[in-house]
Amino acid sequence: MSQHERPKYVYSFEEGSAGMKRLLGGKGANLAEMTRIGVPVPPGFTLTTKACIEYMRRGREFIDEIWPEVLKHIRKLEEKTGRKFGGVERPLLVSVRSGAPVSMPGMMDTVLNVGLNDETVKGLAKLAGERFAYDSYRRLLSMYGSIVMGVPREEFERLLEEKKRKYGVKADAELPAEALRELVEEYKRLIKERTGREFPQNPLEQVKMAVEAVFRSWNGRRAVKYRRIHGIPDDLGTAVNIVAMVFGNMGWDSGTGVAFTRNPATGENRVYGEYLPNAQGEDVVAGIRTPMHIDELGRRHPELYKQLIDVCRRLERHYRDMQDIEFTVEQGRLWILQTRTGKRTPLAAVKMAVDMAEEGLITREEAVLRVSPEDVEKLLHKQVDPSARKEPVAKGLPASPGAAVGKVVFDSDEAEELGKREPVILVRPETTPEDVGGMAASQGILTARGGMTSHAAVVARGMGKPCIVGCEAIKIDLEKEEFRVGDLVVKKGDWITIDGSTGEVMAGKLPLVEPKPTAELEKLLKWADEIRDLGVYANADLPADIAKAIELGAEGIGLARTEHMFLGDRLPIFQRVILAETEEERRRILMEELMPLQKEDFKEILRIADGKKTIIRLLDPPLHEFLPNIRELLAEVAKLEAQGVRGEELEEKRRLLKKVEDLYEFNPMLGFRVCRLGVVYPEIYEAQIRAILEAAAELRKQGLNPRPAIMIPGVIHKRELEELKKLVEKVAKEVFEREGVEVDYEYGTMIEMPRAALTADELAEVVDFFSFGTNDLTQTVLGMSRDDAERRFLHVYIEKGILPENPFKTLDIKGVGQLMKMAVEKSKRVKPTLEIGICGEHGGDPKSIEFCHKIGMDYVSASPFRIPVARLAAAQAKLKHRR
Ligand code: ADP
Ligand code: MG
Ligand code: MG
Repeated sequence: MSQHERPKYVYSFEEGSAGMKRLLGGKGANLAEMTRIGVPVPPGFTLTTKACIEYMRRGREFIDEIWPEVLKHIRKLEEKTGRKFGGVERPLLVSVRSGAPVSMPGMMDTVLNVGLNDETVKGLAKLAGERFAYDSYRRLLSMYGSIVMGVPREEFERLLEEKKRKYGVKADAELPAEALRELVEEYKRLIKERTGREFPQNPLEQVKMAVEAVFRSWNGRRAVKYRRIHGIPDDLGTAVNIVAMVFGNMGWDSGTGVAFTRNPATGENRVYGEYLPNAQGEDVVAGIRTPMHIDELGRRHPELYKQLIDVCRRLERHYRDMQDIEFTVEQGRLWILQTRTGKRTPLAAVKMAVDMAEEGLITREEAVLRVSPEDVEKLLHKQVDPSARKEPVAKGLPASPGAAVGKVVFDSDEAEELGKREPVILVRPETTPEDVGGMAASQGILTARGGMTSHAAVVARGMGKPCIVGCEAIKIDLEKEEFRVGDLVVKKGDWITIDGSTGEVMAGKLPLVEPKPTAELEKLLKWADEIRDLGVYANADLPADIAKAIELGAEGIGLARTEHMFLGDRLPIFQRVILAETEEERRRILMEELMPLQKEDFKEILRIADGKKTIIRLLDPPLHEFLPNIRELLAEVAKLEAQGVRGEELEEKRRLLKKVEDLYEFNPMLGFRVCRLGVVYPEIYEAQIRAILEAAAELRKQGLNPRPAIMIPGVIHKRELEELKKLVEKVAKEVFEREGVEVDYEYGTMIEMPRAALTADELAEVVDFFSFGTNDLTQTVLGMSRDDAERRFLHVYIEKGILPENPFKTLDIKGVGQLMKMAVEKSKRVKPTLEIGICGEHGGDPKSIEFCHKIGMDYVSASPFRIPVARLAAAQAKLKHRR
């Protein structure tokens, strides 16, 4: 392009295509595409998003510069329609429609019937009747008056309501011509009164001002806020489409409607939509009259219906996805005014993707890419039983998915108390760190204020609890302990149901259903399994969870923790181990009392996971966690002393206190724990190793195929691993000799300290596998305790944009990820067969999974309910980054 040549700012529909969304906006690009493939679209043209950007820089001057081009295109519309813009005989009218590159529903504006004035309306009346002409004019005046000239919309509504009352009619469409003519005069007067200016009678000036208003709406408060929330860049700009009007309000053989090429709620392959006879534009969605079901249109106008279905099929085949269509019928003739890829529920997304692949419309790979892991996650959360669903009483932001039922509580301490006995929903204006305990004790959280990154939202997502925030419709009265929505009063103790996936609040106690993968979801996940390279294992400790994980598709157990095997009725035994004075005594209690019990635990785990690799992690927490709390103990001793109690009871408490004081740690997170325990007290680890291997040997003898893998936590040094490996080998030799069978087992380590990652190549020499424990690795790399961070300050960091998201949910790729990448590279260089995975919570997070795939890891391990999410995300990672 030469220096003086201006870029092209105006495109007729014949010149554009679907690929030009960035320049023409979504609406414009698709109108052009439909024109190109011969779908009946009224003629029109588009002012580009670049024009919007220029206008914002230079204002009116710029519009004047490109105006000749706009006039040229209007002239072409006149030729195509045989009408004249501003003409009285056969007036051409246009719509001026916004359309950004990304959909921003309801954020920007459209003006219909531009070109009408006191003269042209007469021409239109002669052509198509008075009623129709004045109906169109009053619509123009109210849209133009509000959108372009800034008179509040409600004022037009008010006059309209008054008019209906005066004429004793219910619906707009029943107003006679005379009433509409009065309304036109009243609207014009209203505009003059409110703005001091006349409604412009010059049609070209109408267009110009409408174009400017649409461009300006890009920076309107609503639109800017919407972009913030949805992360849409501000510099995209909006296009403006100028489209010859077709009229759905031209009598009862005209109308307007919307249609989805498949059912957006269920995914059923059948056109779904609504139609309103004798109506224009948004009437159908504005709830002015009840529209008819699209099937009814089929009964009344079979020919038209058939045409519409044909267009739907064509558009779907062309775009290879479900389309959401706006159409208008003008005196029996069908016009398509918009098409876009339709929004759909998670259920429908899965069904459509699978159906379309089976119909041959898309490939299986495309089907796998079509469904978002978040959709799969939503399908696996508890849901309100669809047959019992009620109208919501209020709607807020869906901050954390899943449904919850409980009794309303307004105070966090009370939630903690009541939550022990019955299900509660914590309802607060907003939450602070003081509420965390109450949140944890509740089934779900509902706040009146706050956005998607508010304290309540961040903490609830971290806890995996259903949560709705920013539900401004509920008016909370903390004094009276009640909230109001409209006329409804909900008091403390009343039941409510919240759906954190949709943001809906429902009154009463609705039944919830455990999600079950649908047949379509099962199929989609099978396809994902065929695609992905990453293995998908589960983090599960208890037999029921392990069984659930396998049912949901886990190929192995990536993290079976063993802490629970020291708790419950085992706790007194283990406390005696900790309090024992000599190694001999410790060893005796461990081997004779604890080990046999734990062997049974391991047998059950290995039996359920038969044939699948089962990674068992040896004891991890510091020992003081198994003893009473030091503060409580101090208080008890003080009380006994004050009561003058003496003798054995007091002595025993004092001994216990002494031990607890011994074990007291200033910083337990970095304290005497993980494999340090096994190095200092090898008998503790030895008992666990013996229990695992004896369990495996016994199952082997029963003809099963146990595949235990022993995992050492918290390693920082190769020597730790060597030392403990000797222990494992010694025990294995003894057990296998005595049992007379050999069991294949693996030996591996967690990587959860920076030093382990930094020396991964050395560690690799000693082990068969690595598992990144990214919960602790994130804590140790960031130097931040998760609990404290999530309670106290993480939400502030996210709100301020210092951190893009919670690093304990989505891997901090630049920091923690960098360390992982380095560790993978240098350890695989030393030992290419080393199996490397992740068992932190990030193993179930789609973005983190994508990263694991990219750096060449072998598997991810996620909690049972996230297994389907991980299967899909792993396949998508492969499709996005073939390696
Ligand atoms: P939105 O982006 O809010 O849907 P649109 O630009 O699609 O706004 O227009 C609003 C309504 O007006 C839609 O129902 C649309 O079908 C209708 N409409 C827009 N242009 C025309 C036209 N040229 N003739 C008839 N109806 C139109
Ligand atoms: Mg539209
Ligand atoms: Mg850990």
